[in-house]
Amino acid sequence: MQLHLANNHQLTLGIDMRLFGSSGVRGLVGAELTPILAAEVGMAVGTFTKAGQVLVARDTRTSGLMLENAIVSGLQACGAKVFCLGVTPTPVLAYLTRALGADAGVMITASHNPPEYNGIKLFDGTGMAYGDEYQDEIERLVMHENFRLAEWQNIGEATSINEESLYIKMVLKSFRLDRKWHVVVDPGCGATSQIAPAIFKGLGCKVTAINANHDGFFPARNPEPNADSLQCLAETVKALGADIGVAYDGDGDRAAFIDENGAFVDFDKVLAAYAAYAVKSFGRGVVVTNVEASMCVERIVEPLGGRVVRTRVGDVYVAESVKKFEAVFGGEPCGAWIHPRYHYCPDGILSSALLLKALEGESKKLSEFVADVPVFQVLRRNIRCRNEVKHAVVRKAADSLKASFPNYRDISTVDGVRLALEDGWVLVRASGTEPLVRLTVEGESLKVAEKIMEKAASAVTKVVEDFESEGRCFGCRRRG
Ligand code: MG
Repeated sequence: MQLHLANNHQLTLGIDMRLFGSSGVRGLVGAELTPILAAEVGMAVGTFTKAGQVLVARDTRTSGLMLENAIVSGLQACGAKVFCLGVTPTPVLAYLTRALGADAGVMITASHNPPEYNGIKLFDGTGMAYGDEYQDEIERLVMHENFRLAEWQNIGEATSINEESLYIKMVLKSFRLDRKWHVVVDPGCGATSQIAPAIFKGLGCKVTAINANHDGFFPARNPEPNADSLQCLAETVKALGADIGVAYDGDGDRAAFIDENGAFVDFDKVLAAYAAYAVKSFGRGVVVTNVEASMCVERIVEPLGGRVVRTRVGDVYVAESVKKFEAVFGGEPCGAWIHPRYHYCPDGILSSALLLKALEGESKKLSEFVADVPVFQVLRRNIRCRNEVKHAVVRKAADSLKASFPNYRDISTVDGVRLALEDGWVLVRASGTEPLVRLTVEGESLKVAEKIMEKAASAVTKVVEDFESEGRCFGCRRRG
C-alpha cells in the first residue's frame, strides 16, 4: 500500500516517512493531506473503534469542512456513529470525547501552521491523544487498507451536535476569580474566537476581544502566537491599561501572554513560574516538560521540593508522562500546558484562566509573577532540510557536534541529539511537522548562547549540505 503523502509522489511508508508526526497527521492540503487520505484515516478509526461512537471537530481552516466530510464518510462506511461538533478548539473536543462517553475524537487542525496546512489528531475515550501504539495501529490499517466496511444496512449515522456548553460549565464550576480582571483576548481568528471571550466573561472579567471572528485565512496574524505575531495584542493591552493579554494558536491548545506593561512574556519563564506555583499549591510533586525547555524550570521547581521529568517533544509524550508520574502539571515551552486535574489535553483557554487564578493566589501582576525566574538565554534557529533526510541529518549531526564541542559533559538521544556543555546545552532535532531541523541552545549568558549557536548551526548546516550534495551526485550517477 502506498500513501498519498508528499510532493505528489506515492511514497511507501518508511522509517522517515510516517503518517503521524509529533502532533498527529499534518501536511499541505491537496498535496500531502488529501480527502482520499482523510477518508482512509476515517475508515481506519471506524475499524479500530469497532464501529464505535466518534466525535469530529475542526478548527477554522478553509479546508476543514472538506476534510471533515471525507473523514465522516470513512467513519460512516465502517458503521461508526458520528457526532460533528463543527468549529471547536482541540481541548474542548478532547474533553467532550471523555465527557460524552465517545470511543474516539477526531480533530481536524494544523494547530499553529499556516492556513494552507491541515492535519488530523486522534483522541481515545479518556480524552488522551493517541500515543505511538494506537497511531501505529491506525497507520497499519491505512497502509494495508485493512478496513472493516459495514453492510449497507449498518452504515453509520452522522449528526451535528453543539455541546460546547458542557465544557464552559466545567470551567466555570471548577474555580472562581475574585478580581474583575481586564483581559484582552486574541484568538487570531481561530477556533477559540467565541468560546474564550465567553469563558472570561463567565468568570467575571472585563473582556476586550480582538481578531475574534472565525476566518480560515488567518488574516489578522500568524496562527502561531509569539512576540512577532502578537504586536497588535501588546499595543492593545498597553493602550487600554488592561491587566493581561492572552492569545491562542489556531486550535486553542496553546496560549501566549502579554503582561500588564504590554510586553510579551517569555514562554520558558511563564512555564517555569506556573510550574513552581503548581508545585507550591500541591506542596510537592512532579512537573513534566520536554527536552527543549529552559533549565530555569529545574532551577525554580527543585528548591520547592518538586521534581522535573523531561520527555520527547510533543504534547502526546508530555501527556503520557503526566499521567504515568501523576504529575501536578505538564507543559511545553510553545505554550501547550496540561492541567491533569481537569483533563490530559493541552488547553490554552484553561491555561489562561488558571494563570489569572495563580496571579490572584500570589497577589501579583503578571510581570511580577515571572520576575523570580532565573534568566538564561535560549536561542532557537531552524535550518531548512527536506523531510526525506531530516532524521538522517540529525543522526549524523551527533558526530559533528561532538567534534565541534569536544569538552561536552553528556549526550542524550531521548529526542534528537542533546549535548550538555559546561555553560549550557545544545539540542538538534527534526521538526515533527515541517521540513526543518530545529536547533535549540541555552547558555548562562547571551554571549555564551550565541557562541554555542554559531558553532552548532555551522556544524549542522555542513551536515545538511553534505546530504544535499550526496543527493545530487546520486542523481547524476543514476542518470548516467
Ligand atoms: Mg495547537
